[in-house]
Amino acid sequence: MKREPIKVRESEASIRRGNFDEVVMGYSEAEAVEEAARCIQCKNPTCITGCPVGIDIKKFISCITKKDYSAAFAAIREKNNFPSICGRVCPAEYQCRRACVFTKKGSAFASKEAINIHFLERFAGDYGMNNNIHIPKTSDKMLSKYKVAIVGSGPAGLCCAGELARYGIKVTVFEALQKPGGVLRYGIPPFRMPRDILDFEIDYLKKLGVDFVGNFIIGRTKTLDELLAQGYSAVFLGLGAGIPSFLGIPGENLCNIYSANEFLTRVNLMSAYKFPEYHTPVNIGKKVLVIGGGNTAMDAARSALRMQNITMQTSDTTIIYRRTEVEMPARRLEIEHAREEGVKFKFLMQPVEFLGDNNGFVKKMRCLECRLGEPDSSGRRRPVPVEGSEFDIECDIAVIAVGLKANQILISVTPELKTDKYGDLVVNKETMETSIKGVFAGGDIVGGEGTVIEAMGMAKKAANGILEYLKTDPVNN
Ligand SMILES: Cc1cc2nc3c(=O)[nH]c(=O)nc-3n(C[C@H](O)[C@H](O)[C@H](O)COP(=O)(O)OP(=O)(O)OC[C@H]3O[C@@H](n4cnc5c(N)ncnc54)[C@H](O)[C@@H]3O)c2cc1C
Repeated sequence: MKREPIKVRESEASIRRGNFDEVVMGYSEAEAVEEAARCIQCKNPTCITGCPVGIDIKKFISCITKKDYSAAFAAIREKNNFPSICGRVCPAEYQCRRACVFTKKGSAFASKEAINIHFLERFAGDYGMNNNIHIPKTSDKMLSKYKVAIVGSGPAGLCCAGELARYGIKVTVFEALQKPGGVLRYGIPPFRMPRDILDFEIDYLKKLGVDFVGNFIIGRTKTLDELLAQGYSAVFLGLGAGIPSFLGIPGENLCNIYSANEFLTRVNLMSAYKFPEYHTPVNIGKKVLVIGGGNTAMDAARSALRMQNITMQTSDTTIIYRRTEVEMPARRLEIEHAREEGVKFKFLMQPVEFLGDNNGFVKKMRCLECRLGEPDSSGRRRPVPVEGSEFDIECDIAVIAVGLKANQILISVTPELKTDKYGDLVVNKETMETSIKGVFAGGDIVGGEGTVIEAMGMAKKAANGILEYLKTDPVNN
């Protein structure tokens, strides 16, 4: 049996760095069937334990080998509402693929490369989408009399909405921004997450009866009490972690220094990437520095480089990271893609100050060289600045991508909502209920910065918690 993994097709780096089209093209039918055939259908499939929502990976891969793609789609949808999305953005190398028997030390297959589970999931998901396959509604007379409010429309909110709407519950999603999708729309760029796929999933929810209300900020537009008073029997909070962290160094308020969130929102949500069709202001400049080493930094750098190529036909974008490539939290694939496209990397550098011109625009970033010390609480080796090693790097745009935390707008006006030391919501881990009865939460607002599938996993748990709450709470019956 052939054991070589089937490589996925990608667009040429020299072309893609000048547009926002999808980079990874996915498998053709023949490629998907061939890759699926590499799966040995283990008796005890460990890959499933690596999936935060427990997709029956063995089953859906087996369906692909039999060319029963509808069944493959249905098998995934039993556990995952958005296979086309997760097949594109899941860090599979840290999740299902890492648990594939082929990667197990000591196993007879240890030298093989893990099955490309995520590309197979994407193939089945796209098949379902392109053939308009929908999961039938489970009508429940008892539940369908209830109204539930979902606040926040990222993967957590959308997933919870879908889970509840399936039972005929009247669901309304309230979102602070004008369009639903959360990070999937305003953060992850279209070259990784094409917007028609996200729109398809949102349209599907609308077909299930879910209503969407934009420009609604819980804690400002209405308080939680005011929302509940509108007749909602339960509320799910999927507010994400949208507040950027900064470096806290002198000069950080100079013009042309962006948080990655602001930069990506301007480019993605407000369509600056469709220049000159859209005129969303986003200054680009000849020399862009992106500070950070996670997925957000990669997305910001790859977006900046594309914007430079589109607007100036040249690019000079550099990622500055204080440790080495080994410690970078970004997905290896994203690092590889960024490098292929021309993003430069400078390691072991710690910014200490930004310097500007007389008009208040950033012109240079002052750094210290670092060396690696002992591992810190994250297990990664700590960067230790080298005294007296100061040097300057020229720049006319800097994008800070050094982490995100929970937005405190709702929390600041709702003291009954219990939070932990990071400002994240505290929930009952079984039901995802917060300290307020009937108010549930999930996604990054609970666990801090995580992944799309982890946010969906929590949302599914919360949906079950809400269903139980609706069934058993005497106030609701
Ligand atoms: C740039 C970037 C790239 C990433 N890349 C990946 C990746 O490749 N793979 C991966 O798995 N994960 C990735 N992640 C992480 C992943 O996107 C998040 O873990 C996930 O989106 C969390 O989902 P969520 O629904 O909890 O929050 P979000 O997606 O953040 O959605 C929260 C929503 O709530 C809204 N909201 C906030 N406050 C209020 C309020 N007071 N009232 C009303 N609405 C409110 C926000 O506007 C937002 O739409 C990335 C994150 C970023 C920032």
